[in-house]
Amino acid sequence: MSYISHLECSKCGKVFDADKVQNVCSDCGKPLMVRYDLDSARDAITKSMLVGREASMWRYFEILPVRDRRNIVTLGEGWTPLTPVPRLGEEVGVPRLWVKDEGIIPTGSFKARGLSAAISRARELGVRRVAIPSAGNAAGAIAAYGARAGMEVHVFMPEDVPRVNIVECEIAGAEVTLVKGLITDAGRLVAEREREMGWFNVSTLREPYRVEGKKTMGIEVAEQMGWTLPDVIIYPTGGGTGIIGMWKAFDELERLGWIGSERPRMISVQSEGCAPIPKAFSEGKEESEYWEGAKTIADGLRVPKALGDFLILKAVRESGGTALAVSDSEILDSVKLIARMEGIFACPEGAATYAALRKLFEDGKVYRDERVVLFNTGSGLKYIHLF
Ligand SMILES: *Cc1c(COP(=O)(O)O)cnc(C)c1O
Ligand SMILES: [Zn+2]
Repeated sequence: MSYISHLECSKCGKVFDADKVQNVCSDCGKPLMVRYDLDSARDAITKSMLVGREASMWRYFEILPVRDRRNIVTLGEGWTPLTPVPRLGEEVGVPRLWVKDEGIIPTGSFKARGLSAAISRARELGVRRVAIPSAGNAAGAIAAYGARAGMEVHVFMPEDVPRVNIVECEIAGAEVTLVKGLITDAGRLVAEREREMGWFNVSTLREPYRVEGKKTMGIEVAEQMGWTLPDVIIYPTGGGTGIIGMWKAFDELERLGWIGSERPRMISVQSEGCAPIPKAFSEGKEESEYWEGAKTIADGLRVPKALGDFLILKAVRESGGTALAVSDSEILDSVKLIARMEGIFACPEGAATYAALRKLFEDGKVYRDERVVLFNTGSGLKYIHLF
Protein backbone atom coordinates (compact mmCIF):
# COMPACT_ATOMS: atom_id res chain seq x y z
CA MET A 1 0.00 0.00 0.00
CA SER A 2 0.93 3.65 -0.36
CA TYR A 3 1.52 5.62 2.85
CA ILE A 4 0.38 8.89 1.25
CA SER A 5 -1.35 11.06 3.86
CA HIS A 6 -1.90 14.60 2.56
CA LEU A 7 -0.58 17.48 0.46
CA GLU A 8 1.23 20.45 1.94
CA CYS A 9 2.14 23.83 0.46
CA SER A 10 5.87 24.11 -0.02
CA LYS A 11 5.80 27.80 0.94
CA CYS A 12 3.09 28.49 3.52
CA GLY A 13 2.52 24.98 4.88
CA LYS A 14 -1.24 24.91 4.25
CA VAL A 15 -2.60 21.35 4.18
CA PHE A 16 -4.74 19.93 1.34
CA ASP A 17 -6.71 16.72 0.78
CA ALA A 18 -4.60 14.37 -1.34
CA ASP A 19 -7.64 12.46 -2.57
CA LYS A 20 -9.04 15.43 -4.47
CA VAL A 21 -7.65 16.79 -7.72
CA GLN A 22 -5.33 19.68 -6.77
CA ASN A 23 -3.00 22.04 -8.55
CA VAL A 24 -1.17 24.75 -6.56
CA CYS A 25 -1.80 26.27 -3.12
CA SER A 26 -5.08 28.21 -3.07
CA ASP A 27 -3.58 30.79 -0.69
CA CYS A 28 -0.13 31.56 -2.09
CA GLY A 29 -0.03 29.87 -5.53
CA LYS A 30 3.07 27.83 -4.75
CA PRO A 31 3.59 24.08 -5.42
CA LEU A 32 2.03 21.40 -3.22
CA MET A 33 4.19 18.55 -1.94
CA VAL A 34 3.00 15.04 -1.15
CA ARG A 35 3.44 13.94 2.46
CA TYR A 36 3.47 10.35 3.68
CA ASP A 37 2.90 8.73 7.04
CA LEU A 38 6.58 7.83 7.30
CA ASP A 39 6.41 6.73 10.95
CA SER A 40 3.99 3.94 10.05
CA ALA A 41 5.96 3.16 6.90
CA ARG A 42 9.14 2.90 8.96
CA ASP A 43 7.59 0.16 11.10
CA ALA A 44 6.14 -1.72 8.14
CA ILE A 45 8.77 -1.72 5.40
CA THR A 46 12.47 -2.51 5.26
CA LYS A 47 15.15 -2.12 2.63
CA SER A 48 15.46 -5.89 2.32
CA MET A 49 11.81 -6.08 1.18
CA LEU A 50 12.93 -4.42 -2.05
CA VAL A 51 15.09 -7.36 -3.06
CA GLY A 52 13.47 -9.14 -6.00
CA ARG A 53 10.92 -6.42 -6.67
CA GLU A 54 10.18 -5.13 -10.18
CA ALA A 55 13.01 -3.29 -11.94
CA SER A 56 11.12 -0.01 -12.27
CA MET A 57 10.53 3.04 -10.11
CA TRP A 58 7.33 1.43 -8.83
CA ARG A 59 9.45 -0.87 -6.63
CA TYR A 60 9.09 1.99 -4.12
CA PHE A 61 5.27 2.06 -4.27
CA GLU A 62 4.88 2.55 -0.50
CA ILE A 63 6.38 6.04 -0.82
CA LEU A 64 4.72 6.81 -4.15
CA PRO A 65 1.27 8.41 -4.37
CA VAL A 66 -0.95 5.74 -5.98
CA ARG A 67 -3.26 4.02 -3.51
CA ASP A 68 -4.54 1.18 -5.70
CA ARG A 69 -1.79 -0.50 -7.67
CA ARG A 70 -4.24 -1.29 -10.48
CA ASN A 71 -4.19 2.41 -11.34
CA ILE A 72 -0.47 2.43 -12.09
CA VAL A 73 0.24 3.36 -15.71
CA THR A 74 3.71 2.03 -16.42
CA LEU A 75 5.98 1.28 -19.34
CA GLY A 76 8.77 0.00 -17.10
CA GLU A 77 10.29 3.43 -16.38
CA GLY A 78 13.08 3.77 -13.85
CA TRP A 79 15.70 1.48 -12.30
CA THR A 80 18.08 2.85 -14.90
CA PRO A 81 21.75 1.93 -14.81
CA LEU A 82 24.21 3.79 -12.61
CA THR A 83 27.09 3.31 -14.98
CA PRO A 84 30.66 3.74 -13.72
CA VAL A 85 32.61 5.92 -16.18
CA PRO A 86 36.18 5.84 -14.79
CA ARG A 87 37.87 6.75 -18.11
CA LEU A 88 35.71 9.82 -18.50
CA GLY A 89 36.34 10.62 -14.84
CA GLU A 90 40.10 10.32 -15.14
CA GLU A 91 39.96 12.70 -18.10
CA VAL A 92 38.60 15.42 -15.83
CA GLY A 93 40.45 14.48 -12.63
CA VAL A 94 37.63 12.70 -10.77
CA PRO A 95 37.96 8.93 -11.36
CA ARG A 96 35.10 7.87 -9.06
CA LEU A 97 32.51 9.07 -11.54
CA TRP A 98 29.12 7.57 -12.47
CA VAL A 99 26.44 8.42 -15.01
CA LYS A 100 22.85 7.78 -13.94
CA ASP A 101 21.70 6.99 -17.44
CA GLU A 102 18.11 8.05 -18.07
CA GLY A 103 18.70 7.83 -21.81
CA ILE A 104 17.39 4.28 -21.96
CA ILE A 105 14.02 5.02 -20.37
CA PRO A 106 10.65 4.76 -22.24
CA THR A 107 10.04 7.87 -24.39
CA GLY A 108 13.79 8.61 -24.28
CA SER A 109 13.92 10.96 -21.32
CA PHE A 110 13.42 10.94 -17.56
CA LYS A 111 10.20 12.88 -18.05
CA ALA A 112 8.71 9.37 -18.17
CA ARG A 113 9.12 9.04 -14.41
CA GLY A 114 7.20 12.19 -13.61
CA LEU A 115 4.45 11.54 -16.10
CA SER A 116 4.02 7.90 -15.11
CA ALA A 117 3.39 9.08 -11.55
CA ALA A 118 1.19 12.01 -12.56
CA ILE A 119 -0.95 10.11 -15.05
CA SER A 120 -1.35 7.16 -12.67
CA ARG A 121 -2.56 9.40 -9.87
CA ALA A 122 -4.74 11.44 -12.24
CA ARG A 123 -6.41 8.21 -13.40
CA GLU A 124 -6.94 7.21 -9.77
CA LEU A 125 -8.65 10.54 -9.09
CA GLY A 126 -10.90 10.23 -12.16
CA VAL A 127 -9.23 12.73 -14.51
CA ARG A 128 -10.07 12.16 -18.20
CA ARG A 129 -8.44 15.10 -20.01
CA VAL A 130 -4.95 16.46 -19.44
CA ALA A 131 -2.95 19.37 -20.88
CA ILE A 132 0.70 20.30 -20.61
CA PRO A 133 3.11 23.01 -21.76
CA SER A 134 6.44 21.44 -22.66
CA ALA A 135 9.85 22.10 -24.17
CA GLY A 136 9.45 18.72 -25.88
CA ASN A 137 10.24 15.71 -23.73
CA ALA A 138 7.42 16.10 -21.21
CA ALA A 139 5.00 16.27 -24.13
CA GLY A 140 6.29 12.99 -25.55
CA ALA A 141 5.99 11.34 -22.17
CA ILE A 142 2.47 12.55 -21.40
CA ALA A 143 1.36 11.51 -24.88
CA ALA A 144 2.59 7.97 -24.23
CA TYR A 145 1.26 7.54 -20.69
CA GLY A 146 -1.95 9.38 -21.49
CA ALA A 147 -2.53 7.04 -24.44
CA ARG A 148 -1.97 4.02 -22.24
CA ALA A 149 -4.43 5.41 -19.68
CA GLY A 150 -7.03 6.14 -22.38
CA MET A 151 -7.00 9.88 -21.68
CA GLU A 152 -7.40 12.86 -23.96
CA VAL A 153 -4.01 14.61 -24.14
CA HIS A 154 -3.31 18.20 -25.23
CA VAL A 155 0.28 19.39 -25.56
CA PHE A 156 1.58 22.93 -26.11
CA MET A 157 5.16 23.36 -27.30
CA PRO A 158 7.32 26.19 -28.67
CA GLU A 159 7.04 26.29 -32.48
CA ASP A 160 10.80 25.66 -32.87
CA VAL A 161 10.64 22.37 -30.95
CA PRO A 162 12.54 19.50 -32.65
CA ARG A 163 10.39 17.49 -35.08
CA VAL A 164 10.93 14.30 -33.08
CA ASN A 165 8.88 15.75 -30.23
CA ILE A 166 5.97 16.59 -32.52
CA VAL A 167 6.02 13.17 -34.16
CA GLU A 168 6.18 11.23 -30.88
CA CYS A 169 3.12 13.12 -29.62
CA GLU A 170 1.05 12.81 -32.76
CA ILE A 171 1.85 9.13 -33.19
CA ALA A 172 0.40 8.50 -29.71
CA GLY A 173 -2.76 10.44 -30.56
CA ALA A 174 -2.13 13.63 -28.60
CA GLU A 175 -3.40 16.96 -29.90
CA VAL A 176 -0.39 19.18 -30.57
CA THR A 177 -0.47 22.99 -30.51
CA LEU A 178 2.67 24.90 -31.47
CA VAL A 179 3.11 28.23 -29.73
CA LYS A 180 5.07 31.34 -30.68
CA GLY A 181 7.53 31.82 -27.85
CA LEU A 182 8.85 29.67 -25.02
CA ILE A 183 7.53 27.09 -22.57
CA THR A 184 6.34 29.92 -20.31
CA ASP A 185 4.17 31.24 -23.18
CA ALA A 186 2.81 27.73 -23.75
CA GLY A 187 2.07 27.57 -20.02
CA ARG A 188 0.06 30.76 -20.18
CA LEU A 189 -2.08 29.34 -22.99
CA VAL A 190 -2.85 26.17 -21.04
CA ALA A 191 -3.72 28.21 -17.93
CA GLU A 192 -6.09 30.41 -19.99
CA ARG A 193 -7.95 27.47 -21.50
CA GLU A 194 -7.91 24.80 -18.81
CA ARG A 195 -11.08 25.79 -16.96
CA GLU A 196 -13.22 26.21 -20.08
CA MET A 197 -11.92 22.99 -21.68
CA GLY A 198 -12.05 20.86 -18.53
CA TRP A 199 -8.39 19.97 -18.73
CA PHE A 200 -6.27 18.97 -15.78
CA ASN A 201 -3.09 21.08 -15.99
CA VAL A 202 0.00 18.88 -15.59
CA SER A 203 2.59 21.71 -15.87
CA THR A 204 5.81 21.32 -13.92
CA LEU A 205 5.03 21.78 -10.20
CA ARG A 206 1.47 22.92 -10.94
CA GLU A 207 0.38 19.45 -9.91
CA PRO A 208 1.91 17.55 -7.00
CA TYR A 209 2.82 14.19 -8.52
CA ARG A 210 5.48 14.63 -11.21
CA VAL A 211 7.97 15.43 -8.45
CA GLU A 212 7.11 12.10 -6.82
CA GLY A 213 8.10 10.20 -9.96
CA LYS A 214 11.30 12.19 -10.31
CA LYS A 215 12.29 11.69 -6.69
CA THR A 216 12.79 7.98 -7.41
CA MET A 217 16.06 8.92 -9.18
CA GLY A 218 17.45 9.82 -5.77
CA ILE A 219 16.13 6.65 -4.14
CA GLU A 220 17.66 4.56 -6.91
CA VAL A 221 21.08 6.20 -6.57
CA ALA A 222 20.97 5.44 -2.83
CA GLU A 223 19.94 1.82 -3.39
CA GLN A 224 22.44 1.31 -6.22
CA MET A 225 25.24 2.68 -4.00
CA GLY A 226 24.36 0.27 -1.20
CA TRP A 227 22.27 2.84 0.75
CA THR A 228 24.97 5.45 0.76
CA LEU A 229 24.91 8.71 -1.16
CA PRO A 230 27.61 10.19 -3.38
CA ASP A 231 29.53 13.30 -2.35
CA VAL A 232 28.25 15.28 -5.31
CA ILE A 233 25.23 15.11 -7.65
CA ILE A 234 25.32 17.25 -10.79
CA TYR A 235 21.90 17.86 -12.30
CA PRO A 236 20.80 19.73 -15.45
CA THR A 237 18.03 22.02 -14.25
CA GLY A 238 15.00 23.29 -16.13
CA GLY A 239 11.81 23.39 -14.05
CA GLY A 240 13.71 21.69 -11.27
CA THR A 241 11.45 18.73 -10.47
CA GLY A 242 14.39 16.34 -10.39
CA ILE A 243 16.54 18.28 -7.97
CA ILE A 244 13.56 19.16 -5.76
CA GLY A 245 12.32 15.57 -5.85
CA MET A 246 15.67 14.01 -5.00
CA TRP A 247 16.22 16.42 -2.13
CA LYS A 248 12.78 15.48 -0.79
CA ALA A 249 13.50 11.77 -1.25
CA PHE A 250 16.67 11.93 0.84
CA ASP A 251 14.70 13.31 3.80
CA GLU A 252 12.08 10.59 3.37
CA LEU A 253 14.77 7.89 3.24
CA GLU A 254 16.31 9.25 6.44
CA ARG A 255 12.90 9.24 8.17
CA LEU A 256 12.53 5.60 7.09
CA GLY A 257 15.92 4.86 8.62
CA TRP A 258 17.34 3.73 5.27
CA ILE A 259 20.11 6.34 5.11
CA GLY A 260 21.75 8.61 7.67
CA SER A 261 21.97 12.40 7.76
CA GLU A 262 24.68 12.64 5.09
CA ARG A 263 23.73 14.45 1.89
CA PRO A 264 25.42 15.04 -1.45
CA ARG A 265 26.25 18.56 -2.56
CA MET A 266 23.54 19.29 -5.12
CA ILE A 267 24.87 21.12 -8.16
CA SER A 268 22.43 22.78 -10.52
CA VAL A 269 23.63 23.26 -14.11
CA GLN A 270 22.05 25.46 -16.77
CA SER A 271 23.13 26.83 -20.13
CA GLU A 272 24.70 30.28 -20.47
CA GLY A 273 21.82 31.16 -22.82
CA CYS A 274 19.26 30.59 -20.06
CA ALA A 275 20.71 30.66 -16.56
CA PRO A 276 18.23 32.17 -14.10
CA ILE A 277 19.17 29.75 -11.30
CA PRO A 278 22.95 30.35 -11.32
CA LYS A 279 22.25 34.09 -11.51
CA ALA A 280 19.92 34.04 -8.51
CA PHE A 281 22.32 31.76 -6.66
CA SER A 282 25.32 34.03 -7.13
CA GLU A 283 23.29 37.10 -6.19
CA GLY A 284 22.11 35.44 -2.99
CA LYS A 285 18.44 35.73 -4.03
CA GLU A 286 15.68 33.41 -2.85
CA GLU A 287 13.87 33.47 -6.19
CA SER A 288 15.01 33.85 -9.79
CA GLU A 289 14.09 36.57 -12.25
CA TYR A 290 12.56 35.91 -15.67
CA TRP A 291 15.47 35.33 -18.13
CA GLU A 292 14.94 37.44 -21.22
CA GLY A 293 15.76 35.97 -24.64
CA ALA A 294 16.35 32.41 -23.44
CA LYS A 295 18.26 30.46 -26.07
CA THR A 296 20.07 27.10 -25.88
CA ILE A 297 20.37 23.83 -27.78
CA ALA A 298 19.49 22.05 -24.52
CA ASP A 299 15.72 22.39 -24.85
CA GLY A 300 15.00 20.94 -21.40
CA LEU A 301 17.01 23.78 -19.84
CA ARG A 302 15.21 26.53 -21.72
CA VAL A 303 12.98 27.55 -18.81
CA PRO A 304 13.26 31.31 -18.23
CA LYS A 305 11.41 31.23 -14.90
CA ALA A 306 10.57 28.14 -12.87
CA LEU A 307 7.60 28.07 -10.47
CA GLY A 308 9.73 26.07 -8.04
CA ASP A 309 12.86 28.24 -8.34
CA PHE A 310 12.89 28.94 -4.58
CA LEU A 311 12.84 25.20 -3.88
CA ILE A 312 15.74 24.54 -6.27
CA LEU A 313 17.79 27.32 -4.68
CA LYS A 314 16.92 26.05 -1.21
CA ALA A 315 18.05 22.51 -1.99
CA VAL A 316 21.29 23.72 -3.57
CA ARG A 317 22.09 25.98 -0.60
CA GLU A 318 21.09 23.55 2.15
CA SER A 319 23.27 20.90 0.55
CA GLY A 320 26.34 23.13 0.35
CA GLY A 321 26.23 22.87 -3.43
CA THR A 322 26.34 25.49 -6.11
CA ALA A 323 24.76 26.54 -9.41
CA LEU A 324 26.64 27.29 -12.61
CA ALA A 325 26.17 27.73 -16.34
CA VAL A 326 28.07 26.18 -19.26
CA SER A 327 28.08 27.23 -22.91
CA ASP A 328 26.35 25.40 -25.75
CA SER A 329 29.71 24.70 -27.39
CA GLU A 330 31.03 23.14 -24.16
CA ILE A 331 27.85 21.06 -24.11
CA LEU A 332 28.34 19.80 -27.67
CA ASP A 333 32.01 18.96 -27.00
CA SER A 334 30.92 17.01 -23.93
CA VAL A 335 28.29 15.03 -25.87
CA LYS A 336 31.02 13.88 -28.25
CA LEU A 337 33.57 13.13 -25.55
CA ILE A 338 31.15 11.08 -23.43
CA ALA A 339 30.13 9.04 -26.49
CA ARG A 340 33.71 8.44 -27.61
CA MET A 341 35.05 7.53 -24.18
CA GLU A 342 32.16 5.59 -22.67
CA GLY A 343 29.70 4.76 -25.44
CA ILE A 344 26.87 6.79 -23.94
CA PHE A 345 25.13 9.09 -26.43
CA ALA A 346 23.93 11.69 -23.92
CA CYS A 347 21.37 14.41 -24.53
CA PRO A 348 22.80 17.96 -24.41
CA GLU A 349 21.19 18.56 -21.01
CA GLY A 350 22.97 15.49 -19.63
CA ALA A 351 26.28 16.38 -21.26
CA ALA A 352 26.08 19.81 -19.61
CA THR A 353 26.76 18.10 -16.28
CA TYR A 354 30.12 16.87 -17.53
CA ALA A 355 31.07 20.32 -18.80
CA ALA A 356 30.11 21.61 -15.37
CA LEU A 357 32.23 19.00 -13.59
CA ARG A 358 35.26 20.12 -15.55
CA LYS A 359 34.77 23.71 -14.37
CA LEU A 360 34.05 22.69 -10.79
CA PHE A 361 37.23 20.61 -10.63
CA GLU A 362 39.31 23.41 -12.10
CA ASP A 363 37.80 25.88 -9.60
CA GLY A 364 38.58 23.58 -6.66
CA LYS A 365 34.91 22.93 -5.88
CA VAL A 366 35.06 19.16 -6.47
CA TYR A 367 38.02 17.03 -5.38
CA ARG A 368 39.85 14.09 -6.89
CA ASP A 369 38.79 11.53 -4.27
CA GLU A 370 35.09 12.38 -4.31
CA ARG A 371 32.27 10.20 -5.58
CA VAL A 372 30.35 12.13 -8.23
CA VAL A 373 27.13 11.24 -10.05
CA LEU A 374 26.19 12.97 -13.30
CA PHE A 375 22.60 12.80 -14.52
CA ASN A 376 22.16 12.04 -18.19
CA THR A 377 18.48 12.92 -18.39
CA GLY A 378 17.73 11.66 -21.88
CA SER A 379 18.89 9.98 -25.03
CA GLY A 380 21.07 11.75 -27.58
CA LEU A 381 18.99 9.97 -30.21
CA LYS A 382 16.28 12.59 -29.69
CA TYR A 383 18.76 15.34 -30.68
CA ILE A 384 20.32 14.22 -33.95
CA HIS A 385 19.24 17.54 -35.50
CA LEU A 386 22.23 19.05 -33.64
CA PHE A 387 24.85 16.90 -35.40
C1 LIG B 1 13.01 18.54 -18.74
C2 LIG B 1 14.40 18.15 -18.92
C3 LIG B 1 15.40 18.58 -18.01
C4 LIG B 1 15.11 19.48 -16.84
O1 LIG B 1 14.42 18.75 -15.85
P1 LIG B 1 13.80 19.36 -14.53
O2 LIG B 1 13.75 18.22 -13.56
O3 LIG B 1 12.44 19.87 -14.84
O4 LIG B 1 14.70 20.45 -14.06
C5 LIG B 1 16.68 18.09 -18.20
N1 LIG B 1 16.98 17.26 -19.23
C6 LIG B 1 16.06 16.84 -20.12
C7 LIG B 1 16.47 15.94 -21.23
C8 LIG B 1 14.73 17.27 -19.99
O5 LIG B 1 13.82 16.84 -20.86
ZN1 LIG C 1 0.73 28.21 0.21
